[in-house]
Amino acid sequence: MAFNKQYLIKEIQEQFLEDDGRRPWIVAFSGGKDSTTLLMLVWEAISGLNEIERKVRPIYVICNNTLVENPQVLKFVNAQLRIIQQRATEQGFPIVVEHTTPRLDDSFWVNLIGRGYPAPNNIFRWCTERLKISPTTQYIKEKVAQYGEAIILIGTRTDESSSRSASIRKHSIKGERLSKHPLPNAMAYAPIKDMTTKEVWSFLEFTKNPWTGDKNNELRTLYLNGSGGDCPIVMDVQTPSCGNSRFGCWVCTVVKRDRSMEALIDNGEDWMVTLMQVRDFLYETIDRSNEGYDADKYRMPIRRNKAEGVGPYWPKYRYEILVMVLKAQKAATIQDPTNQLISLQELSAIQIVWNRDHIYEYSVGDAYRAVFGDTVEFEDRSLEVDNERKLLRDICNDNPNDELLIQRLLSAQKNKGLLLRKHGLQNDIENILQEHVRPTFTKFENY
Ligand code: SF4
Repeated sequence: MAFNKQYLIKEIQEQFLEDDGRRPWIVAFSGGKDSTTLLMLVWEAISGLNEIERKVRPIYVICNNTLVENPQVLKFVNAQLRIIQQRATEQGFPIVVEHTTPRLDDSFWVNLIGRGYPAPNNIFRWCTERLKISPTTQYIKEKVAQYGEAIILIGTRTDESSSRSASIRKHSIKGERLSKHPLPNAMAYAPIKDMTTKEVWSFLEFTKNPWTGDKNNELRTLYLNGSGGDCPIVMDVQTPSCGNSRFGCWVCTVVKRDRSMEALIDNGEDWMVTLMQVRDFLYETIDRSNEGYDADKYRMPIRRNKAEGVGPYWPKYRYEILVMVLKAQKAATIQDPTNQLISLQELSAIQIVWNRDHIYEYSVGDAYRAVFGDTVEFEDRSLEVDNERKLLRDICNDNPNDELLIQRLLSAQKNKGLLLRKHGLQNDIENILQEHVRPTFTKFENY
């Protein structure tokens, strides 16, 4: 059925007034064309209700920041979110804008540079769960815990891809507008599921956006050069919405080329060349043995769980990637001091992971100094700055190895405080003790 705006507005109003607003609406907003269309329609539907009706149900507009968003796109989306909140408050709409981000332990850089996880590809796409699904799932669970149930509004459409339409069909309950959501006590509502891509573009071009007041000029400009789909908040791990997206992560190696970033560089954003170099290097390292290309040189011949097989990046490459990211960070900060590609917290977490992996020949502090010239400590050196260090050294005078052992044990214990994964402390301690009694063993002795 062709898109009928009035019919859809009426449907959204009916849904909004159903069940006396017992269940909050959670609108998944990425700033892309589909979620913008969805929120514009919801906004228009609410505007058509009287003042009492429009307060029936809280609406949470949530936007997930993977912390590796394209900086230019992130700026655009954050500006949108600010103005959405401002206009909603002015108009007395029950809209609350909220942001979600991955846990530090799940961050892209902590896993790729810290743990050496390979850049994602179609076979091993470890990032979607950590960067997108998990933060949103956590948010929905909290709202379900608060209200008992929740309805999630998503901008998915059946014409987007056959797998996504299959996913929508699979969850649909015949004859009902709401469909099952993978999370308990949550339902999904996809008001624009029947709109075609052409209808979405036409809607955006000819409808005044209620929060910006224009016809989505900036959004349409963002999409102008290059193709690419939306990258909405995903519903489950089967949803292949990531990658190939204008609103995806700038580091994404699921796609061969990042046309969106190329277009921005072509349009004068020269500083993004350094970001492109990082992404291209990561793409260079992904497993493409089916193309006859061997990326094994970048990877250790043993997995993190000690099973045989192609494992994490060699520490050498983790360090090289870190230096490249910091160089890109430097260029990004010169362009705009608010640009952040990697945070100090992530850098500290990476150093902790390296300590745990017994990587002592490279340090985050060295990489930072090499790029910025500044000395910043990314590990707990408190023992060095007080008398305890001296005391410890004096006590261990006859056996200097004990000093190192005690420091490593203390560090293992303290590191548990920063990263969320608290399990494994006993293992870490056992490993450290084992190495201490067998000092010739080193895990990374091959380089
Ligand atoms: S856009 Fe790419 S890098 Fe980002 S979560 Fe999806 S697959 Fe991973």
